[in-house]
Amino acid sequence: SNPIKVGILGYGNLGKGTVKAVKQTSDMEIVAVFTRRDPASLELEDPSIKAVHIDEVESYKDKIDVMILCGGSATDLPGQGPKYTKLFNTIDSYDTHAKIPEYFEAVDEAAKQGGNISIIAVGWDPGLFSINRLVSEAIIPNGETYTFWGKGLSQGHSDAVRRVEGVKAGVQYTIPSDEAMERVRSGENPTLETAEKHRRVCYIVPEEGADTNEIENTIKTMPNYFADYQTEVHFITEEELKKEHSKAPHGGFVIRSGKTGEDNKQLIEFSLKLESNPEFTSSVLVAYARAAHRLSKEGAVGAKTVFDIAPGYLSPRSASDLRRDLL
Ligand code: NDP
Repeated sequence: SNPIKVGILGYGNLGKGTVKAVKQTSDMEIVAVFTRRDPASLELEDPSIKAVHIDEVESYKDKIDVMILCGGSATDLPGQGPKYTKLFNTIDSYDTHAKIPEYFEAVDEAAKQGGNISIIAVGWDPGLFSINRLVSEAIIPNGETYTFWGKGLSQGHSDAVRRVEGVKAGVQYTIPSDEAMERVRSGENPTLETAEKHRRVCYIVPEEGADTNEIENTIKTMPNYFADYQTEVHFITEEELKKEHSKAPHGGFVIRSGKTGEDNKQLIEFSLKLESNPEFTSSVLVAYARAAHRLSKEGAVGAKTVFDIAPGYLSPRSASDLRRDLL
């Protein structure tokens, strides 16, 4: 059967990851990458992929089954989501949790105007973690849900340490606290503040002659970012930073701990360990692009979230294959 024709809108980390993820499927192909920049400036890793300026996107209306929106949540998607959902079926990774309801409304209206489907807030959190929170709460109503993030590179905290005087370069990892995880896994159902659930580990390249004690102290006492957390500061060389800390790892845990019947403890745990956050997130987007295409062919219209998509739609395999092999 015909491959699903995919467009990629925006060529940042997710755009690059999406190119790689589509290539690993056998039922999808990339039509073009669309960008607001000069398409010739993109330096695509695969020269066979076409880069097109976003002003020409309308002429692709009938050539693309699903457009994967790879813009940033803060300033790109609030405009791009509704705008391009009028023209195409879309997928995006909108992750500003507090604003998801209003974003959903705007995209829903645009989707209905265009007769398209859009699956918003796809990825791992929001996304796969959200599904696991929902399923486990539905199954164990008497309990608590915990989300721990990490080990993960945090962009905001890495920027904060780089602004400290005497710091040449550095990164910050958020790491779940072993002690807090143990308390949750034991079924204690503790009340935990974010700062108790995570610790922060920094790897810093100091400028020549900088006072490392002072750097460490400034970081550890920085309000909002580090002061409330258990923080470790390690000093390393520029070579070590490049060699050991240039990937974008992330991940985390969703744990539901509760009871059924009189007093039987039940624990559900879902975890991700990701060497590349953007490549993984893009892979989730691509699986949901397949679902959007199939649902669109069935006549579905409007905005959806991961909660609305049945798992069978994500798989390239037929429903009867899935029943035979995976049930
Ligand atoms: P980037 O900043 O890498 O890219 C965002 C946009 O910026 C691109 O679409 C691109 O648009 C533009 N851009 C990229 N590189 C450059 C450059 N060198 N110069 C000028 N413009 C550039 O963001 P990410 O791809 O890392 O992340 C996108 C969003 O994904 C995040 O905002 C986050 O909300 C979301 N996300 C969601 C997750 C989840 O679990 N739900 C997990 C991870 C991320 P153009 O080509 O048009 O210029």
